[in-house]
Amino acid sequence: MPELPEVETVKETLKNFLIGQKIRKVIAPYPNIIKDDLDSFKDKIIGQQFNDILRYGKYLLFQLDDYVLVSHLRMEGKYFIRNSLKELSKHEHVIFELDNGKFLSYHDVRKFGTMELVFKGTEFQLESLSKLGFEANDENADVNIIYEKFRKANRPVKTVLLDQTVITGLGNIYVDETLFLTKIHPQEIASHLSFDEVSNLIKNARTILNKAIALGGTTIRTYQSSLGVDGRFQNELNVHTLVGKPCPVCSTEIIKIKVGGRGTYLCPNCQKRKEL
Ligand SMILES: [Zn+2]
Repeated sequence: MPELPEVETVKETLKNFLIGQKIRKVIAPYPNIIKDDLDSFKDKIIGQQFNDILRYGKYLLFQLDDYVLVSHLRMEGKYFIRNSLKELSKHEHVIFELDNGKFLSYHDVRKFGTMELVFKGTEFQLESLSKLGFEANDENADVNIIYEKFRKANRPVKTVLLDQTVITGLGNIYVDETLFLTKIHPQEIASHLSFDEVSNLIKNARTILNKAIALGGTTIRTYQSSLGVDGRFQNELNVHTLVGKPCPVCSTEIIKIKVGGRGTYLCPNCQKRKEL
């Protein structure tokens, strides 16, 4: 699943291709990805130019002349650029023809992704965006506000970190890594954490995400040629997917448990539950 660093990489890559391009045509073999009525979507978007691409959490915000196209990749969504419409795959659901004769294609095996076109300036009124918390790598995120949300949450800390309304942008991989670095058990109840622990969690999440963004940024060529974004952060993982491997700090075997239905990796020695 693409997480914040992967979406950031997608954004930066697409900017190179799209800025200054106008949309000439929309082809939608599977229009359900688009939340609006297809005809009205086409009416509005055709003729609009890509002026910039922003990101909030895991949402891509394509800045057009009068509208913002809000896109969420969910589990498997990918964008890529085509030179022609030859050999379209059955997983390409929405295709934008550009001024330069190329195509921006949205590919989604599981069809969970969404696109929504809204008037510029109203995007943060969308229910999906209005609920999001501070971005996990936002240096100006107010730890007091985040701590207040933790204090009220009688749920496992991992579940709270995955809940995009507390902080946004962390998915399964980076949550496991953040908890390991902060020496917190994923099942620890969020309200049991001290202010300093929450503060450290946020700091570590930011460090990890920034490192992952930096490594994802090196894979632009891979992205163009192979459709997907293959970051290099997998080489930096300490616990995620590494069940049975020695913990890099204490050499205890990494274990895998389930938290809220999600596969979760941890060092049982470094990340002990608190005794209350
Ligand atoms: Zn350890």
